[in-house]
Amino acid sequence: MKIYVDKIPEGGIELTEKIQPGAISIDTEGISFIQPVDVKANVLKTGAEMFADILLESPVEYTCSKCLSKFEGIFKKKFNLIREVKPAEVVELDDEIRQEIIVDYPMKIVCKEDCKGLCPNCGQNLNVGECDCK
Ligand SMILES: [Zn+2]
Ligand SMILES: [Zn+2]
Repeated sequence: MKIYVDKIPEGGIELTEKIQPGAISIDTEGISFIQPVDVKANVLKTGAEMFADILLESPVEYTCSKCLSKFEGIFKKKFNLIREVKPAEVVELDDEIRQEIIVDYPMKIVCKEDCKGLCPNCGQNLNVGECDCK
């Protein structure tokens, strides 16, 4: 998302954009963004400072780190930004957005708290049923 500082009106402006997940490479083994990320930004400028309230929202697909099953969820995050800007600057926010998304990734993604995972021997998903291994 680009913000053209000289186009921010007196009372601020709301900008929306869809960012293709591939454009900011935010997929990991545990999370993959299956649709563009909705970005909504409320931008205000006073003097040489720009304030932006940013809301990110996107459906994602998680991969359980124990049993490797996939399940869908919504990734949502709100953050704000204060920057000093020059009068005709173009502020590029993709990097910021990417970092904000990445710091919010859960450390460990599991499909449910008591996920039994896979049998280390035969790979059977133990949530579905027991295997014959001893
Ligand atoms: Zn699981
Ligand atoms: Zn087994």
